[in-house]
Amino acid sequence: MFADNMDILTVARWRAMCRINYAHGTSSLRRTLTNRLRAFVPSPHAFVDLVTSHGGIFGGEVALSFFLRLDSYRPSFVEIYSSNYNYEKLCEAILDDPSISARIKTHSFFTNTHSHAIHRLVASSLNIHLSNGLSILVHQSYTCSPFAPMSRTPSTALSNFVSRYSFGCSHPGLTLARRALLADKVTPSFTPYDSATFERLLSHNFSISVSPSAWPEYRRVFEDGSLWTPEVCWREKFLCPNQGRFFGDKGSLVGYFDPLGGDKGRCVKGQLAPFGPMLIWRIMTTFECGDGCEYLDEVLDQGVTYIPVLFRSDPVGELRDSILDRRTGTASLYRFTSTACLDRYIRRGQFVTM
Ligand SMILES: [Zn+2]
Repeated sequence: MFADNMDILTVARWRAMCRINYAHGTSSLRRTLTNRLRAFVPSPHAFVDLVTSHGGIFGGEVALSFFLRLDSYRPSFVEIYSSNYNYEKLCEAILDDPSISARIKTHSFFTNTHSHAIHRLVASSLNIHLSNGLSILVHQSYTCSPFAPMSRTPSTALSNFVSRYSFGCSHPGLTLARRALLADKVTPSFTPYDSATFERLLSHNFSISVSPSAWPEYRRVFEDGSLWTPEVCWREKFLCPNQGRFFGDKGSLVGYFDPLGGDKGRCVKGQLAPFGPMLIWRIMTTFECGDGCEYLDEVLDQGVTYIPVLFRSDPVGELRDSILDRRTGTASLYRFTSTACLDRYIRRGQFVTM
């Protein structure tokens, strides 16, 4: 199927052209996820349903691989994130599933130290070692948002989610170009799994940096030895490491597997990402923005690294699927945002801090 060879933005635009493309493109997107899970579980579709029905979301390298759509990027472990209150039932459901339990060699529950838990926002984890050498990790969020641990991953390449109905990428402009901002304040709490992930990122030619200025497009421009562009932090492209971010702002990419079939409504009703308990966060970085994004940010106060929030609905269209946006023909991430968007959420009572 040639749609499998398109990058995610291309397949999203291509499937918006007609119903036939839509069917093929949607199948291709679903196949991207299930093909990656097939090495871990015998029934990937049932596994995705099981995880989503228990409020879990896929993250880590499996979600990254979904966005990159690179067949060669095959992680050796699947990371699933759960809210603190859904965790036990999700673990039970996975361990009790006969088709999965037949493949399990050993499993263990691990409770993190308090220090690690507040650094990474992961309270505990279930490690399932499969008989084929691969692993499934289920992480319990330190908060009511399953997304919280992803906000503390060591790099923006890993702040992506995929569920039965939806998917999101926080920094598509970087991630899809195999670039990532490093959360260097997180690196002291590296786990062996983090190290393995970083090795795989580097082996797939990811460029990782604390500052966007590491890449030519985001440097100050000099001409004839004189500076002619001012220092900028690229806030307008949602790349300033100090700014507050959330899934649904115009720097992020949010999509649905079957937007015409009502997947967005299912996410709203079921309180599934990008709706329900989510997070506003900023990267854990030593980067210091010269434009004051640390203390002048419109969504996070100075010193605040995250706020759990509840997205109830989407009255202003900020979580519009880029696939259905026919006005510009581009994904939402390439449009400049109105800084008043969050004000509108708050004013209309659709955005609630928890
Ligand atoms: Zn800034």
